[in-house]
Amino acid sequence: MKNKWHKVYLGIGSNLGNRRRNIEKSLSLIDAEIETRIKKQSSFYETKPVGGLKQRDFINAVILIETTLEAKLLLKILKLIETKIGRKIDAPRWGPRIIDLDILAYEQLVLESKILRVPHPRMHKRLFVLVPFAEIAPRFKHPILQKTMGKLLSELKSK
Ligand code: ADP
Ligand code: MG
Repeated sequence: MKNKWHKVYLGIGSNLGNRRRNIEKSLSLIDAEIETRIKKQSSFYETKPVGGLKQRDFINAVILIETTLEAKLLLKILKLIETKIGRKIDAPRWGPRIIDLDILAYEQLVLESKILRVPHPRMHKRLFVLVPFAEIAPRFKHPILQKTMGKLLSELKSK
């Protein structure tokens, strides 16, 4: 049977080492993954860190991929890619990281498990996600909030 291709939005961030190169590396590893291909890629944005820890600015981007991998397997593979690029597993949450790969949205899927929550629970509150997301998919609708990325971005900006 032919596998189904799913449209998935990924958030990418880095604030350690050569940030642009880390992101480029993650892009080529994602694209090299079996039955996974990058369809769209946002610009790179330099953004201030959130969470209160004093650390270097991030570079963030959002990409659209098509993949036959189901969501949990995709997450596993993204974590393997993070490790390959050099992310330490025990690094603190919200702390500096060589690479961070998040599943922002997987089609219109809504999933709440211990290891994976989709759509990403904080994406609509973060400019560093919504700005690049709205750049490549302004009309994509948030599966729970039922608002487009363009709308969520203008709402967050006017807060
Ligand atoms: P964050 O990205 O929130 O800053 P981490 O990258 O350290 O933090 O992720 C912590 C855990 O969040 C991961 O081990 C993963 O199991 C879980 N997680 C839950 N939902 C998602 C998602 N949509 N994308 C990526 N990781 C997720
Ligand atoms: Mg993450």
